[in-house]
Amino acid sequence: MFNFKHFFVVMMAGLIGLIGATATTQTQTAAATTIKFTSAMHTNKNLTYKGTIKYYVKSDAKKYQANIHYAANRWNKALGKKVLRPTNSLAGSRLVFTGTNKLGGDVAGMAEINSGVIALNTSWMNRYGTQKQRAVVIHELGHAFGTKDLYNYPDASLRSVFKKQTIMGGNYSTRIGSFDAKLAKWTLTKTRTMSPSEFSHYRSNEGLYYQQMLRGQL
Ligand SMILES: [Zn+2]
Repeated sequence: MFNFKHFFVVMMAGLIGLIGATATTQTQTAAATTIKFTSAMHTNKNLTYKGTIKYYVKSDAKKYQANIHYAANRWNKALGKKVLRPTNSLAGSRLVFTGTNKLGGDVAGMAEINSGVIALNTSWMNRYGTQKQRAVVIHELGHAFGTKDLYNYPDASLRSVFKKQTIMGGNYSTRIGSFDAKLAKWTLTKTRTMSPSEFSHYRSNEGLYYQQMLRGQL
């Protein structure tokens, strides 16, 4: 599931060492090896095609466009590669942002990888300031790389750390730390890219977000 629950940041010592590990000193590198990436952290597909994800912002999400671009640029910087690129072609996109008030009330945003849609809940987004809007988009974009929600992580003590300190744990941060960046790079290697025919198959599926969005049901 790709819902974005609401958790707030209370910094804990554990992962701070981890996040700081590569950025600061070599003595902290040992801490970085204590949290291993596992299959519970990734799905089976990502939205890349030829190394990039072209994204389109639909008219109903235009008011969030500046924050969407900001979030995409943060990820590009964190990944050290221009993976996310804006496009003006809906048909040529692998990812579409839409704004809707038809999501569940407890969900700020949803990412559907098969048909390549990120739906932003307008009733939350319109109440949010710039920082939180950016944080929602950064989190949802994490799913585009194939990363799962870490607030559902099976191990309870790690889950609690993830919730507070990671993008995919739902920490509402606009800072993509080294753990977040490494995890995204890793899930990109663990997931597969859909071929154009597989992707268009999903986009033509009535039950998935893309068709629902086109029909105004989303
Ligand atoms: Zn999520």
